[in-house]
Amino acid sequence: MNMMDLTGKKGLIVGIANSHSIAYGCASVLRKAGAELCVTYLNEKSRPYVAPLAEGLNASMLPLDVAEPGQMEAVFESLKEQWGELDFVVHAVAWSPLDELHGRLVDTSAEGFSKAMDISCHSFIRMAKCAEPLMKNGGTLLTMSYYGSEKVVDHYDMMGPIKAALESSVRYLAFELGSKNIRVHSISPGPMPTRAASGIEKFDQLMEDAVQRSPLHQLGRPEDVGNMAAFLVSDMAARLTGSVEFVDAGHHIVA
Ligand code: NAD
Repeated sequence: MNMMDLTGKKGLIVGIANSHSIAYGCASVLRKAGAELCVTYLNEKSRPYVAPLAEGLNASMLPLDVAEPGQMEAVFESLKEQWGELDFVVHAVAWSPLDELHGRLVDTSAEGFSKAMDISCHSFIRMAKCAEPLMKNGGTLLTMSYYGSEKVVDHYDMMGPIKAALESSVRYLAFELGSKNIRVHSISPGPMPTRAASGIEKFDQLMEDAVQRSPLHQLGRPEDVGNMAAFLVSDMAARLTGSVEFVDAGHHIVA
């Protein structure tokens, strides 16, 4: 069953590492709903993992390391040539230095924190800036957050304040770009076993807790995030902006 019809919409998906990635869950649903996609890969090492997925999605593929000056601008220049316009962006990117992620926030170095903030948060702001001129008829910008932004989740450490900054950025971007009919949201998935998640200590316990204590007693799946993304991108969500949408089987309501 596919209730969304996104035929004619064109979107950029950033953050596919492999078939378990939340970005791939989003891309699969958006493609099934009829959207035309361009996906990015981080570097030559990740290219062989992303290429067959891009092919299956019938998507074009471009390199993008958001920490490399000029690469993001090149992606949007290429989209301008390819499509001339853009309807949506899915930003599902996070990075932090592993040793610091495994330590206490209080011990975080300025360098490690700044780099993690730049890749995981400011890259979304830069993406909004690049997308704005291509979203001539409005559009949707989506990013991925986590509940650790608002409550202390053991072992989430430095990513908590970074996701808080990301969610706040979503609100300010939604306010600033609303007059152009560009809508901005963060989706907040519950724990899902992806490569990025494997860097978080005791992640298994987080997943166990999600299953035991969430009202629906299940883990969310990347395709559930994709369904939410499809709704937010669709014209059915035309009057929504600036929100955090949880896709976590209701875990966030439980004390
Ligand atoms: P993933 O490892 O599949 O995806 C993370 C992506 O970030 C990878 O594709 C990686 O290449 C990309 N990335 C890292 N540094 C980059 C850079 N410099 N330039 C471009 N891309 C870069 O893991 P995921 O869990 O799918 O993560 C996607 C998003 O979902 C992240 O923002 C993460 O914080 C968020 N999230 C994940 C979970 C979870 O439990 N998996 C829960 C809530 C939120």
